[in-house]
Amino acid sequence: MANRREFLQNAAGAMAGVAFVGCGLMGVAPAKAQPRRREVVVNGRRVKTVDVHAHCAVPEAMALLGIKLNPQTLLMSQTQDRIRAMDEQGIDVEALSINAFWYKADYEVARQLIKMQNDKLAEICAAQPDRFVAFATVALQHPELAAEQLVYAVKKLGLRGASLGGSVDGLELADPKFHPFWAKVEELGVLVFIHPQATGMGPDLRGRLQGNGGLENVIGNPLETTIALSHLIFEGTLDRFPGLKICSAHGGGYLPSYAGRSDAGCVTFPDRCPRPLKKRPTEYLKQLYFDSLVFTPEALRHLIAETGSSRIMMGTDYPFPWTRTSVDHILGTPGLSDAERAAILGETAAKLLGIK
Ligand SMILES: [Zn+2]
Repeated sequence: MANRREFLQNAAGAMAGVAFVGCGLMGVAPAKAQPRRREVVVNGRRVKTVDVHAHCAVPEAMALLGIKLNPQTLLMSQTQDRIRAMDEQGIDVEALSINAFWYKADYEVARQLIKMQNDKLAEICAAQPDRFVAFATVALQHPELAAEQLVYAVKKLGLRGASLGGSVDGLELADPKFHPFWAKVEELGVLVFIHPQATGMGPDLRGRLQGNGGLENVIGNPLETTIALSHLIFEGTLDRFPGLKICSAHGGGYLPSYAGRSDAGCVTFPDRCPRPLKKRPTEYLKQLYFDSLVFTPEALRHLIAETGSSRIMMGTDYPFPWTRTSVDHILGTPGLSDAERAAILGETAAKLLGIK
């Protein structure tokens, strides 16, 4: 582990080895000149804004599995483009994550790959500690290894939690195989960010999502999150580990928009719910966290009505250009107090991620 000075000296090198990419590792926001940094103010008070849904990738780690990025994303200028976009959009801090692509890797490759990625994430954050924090990557297909990787990343590298896919090589996150990992997450008290992958849907459903419209992403991603969270609720994982802090991308997918059905299911068909839960299914939504990436003020209002404003954190999906107005979306959603807006814009994330 290099010291801080070495980190700073190596900052340029660290940035050179990192490419920032969008969901599905494709797509780059175009560069734009922006001379001034937007400072977000709520009722006269400056708020430090935090984006919990911001992607990056480490190409040399991908190379271990023979996976290549789109060449555009390898541009050296990419980090400057990112900071410029953050300044323009009023994002003070990004919590970086890397979408999982390594869940089929064997133990030794997974060990190397994750070490390479987490070391690089730590270098990026050390080079610009006022703009970036990061979620650790973990090889969850090897749960004991993943727990060790998380401990090292949090305690030695200063990373702030872990990012996970919506499923792990065909297994649900609620599978008992992953209990040792969840136990470690709960013990550490760190935030986990769940981001879906199209590959998590399996071949049958992926087949149905081909064709016009990009449905594999548009529908598939939120659906995978919906399934993952539903299993964490209905399999009792959230009862077993009540201290977990889990934030899901894309507003939790479809789960909060049709939550009442989750309660009605076990009432209508009690024989299909042999495993008793400690609470009504929708009550678990109030112990989870969600990003704000639901596009309209009405959708965000509804998400908050189902989960509580204290459970929502800003997410942009940068650099995939779904939106460039995440701050205005939160400022423009009706019915929120100034304190609630400040919490969603950054204060809740700052607390959970240890951002000063
Ligand atoms: Zn994303």
